[in-house]
Amino acid sequence: MKTLAIAISFSLLSIGAFAQAKTTKAIPAKAAKPATATAVSYKCPVCGAVSDKTGECSKDKVAYVKVGDYYCPDCYMSQAKPGKCSMCGVDMKKMETTTAKK
Ligand SMILES: [Zn+2]
Ligand SMILES: [Zn+2]
Repeated sequence: MKTLAIAISFSLLSIGAFAQAKTTKAIPAKAAKPATATAVSYKCPVCGAVSDKTGECSKDKVAYVKVGDYYCPDCYMSQAKPGKCSMCGVDMKKMETTTAKK
């Protein structure tokens, strides 16, 4: 009889733990990005120079674009989502890990 009581309390505990795990899981899992770009994190949209941290290309004086983000081919403004440049109205290009020379 004692074992049954333990089993019941255990199952109640696991239900409680499960409910707790469910509530703590409220953080959207979509935010997790696949860690594909490891070495190259930022790139110059003009010359394709790579950097592991954000900054400015010393040659072209433009801000590095984060790999996976979108940038304007005209003014090199960058943003995280695709769309049109708010300055020029041209389509934003995705910054790929591989250099696409244009
Ligand atoms: Zn550059
Ligand atoms: Zn632009």
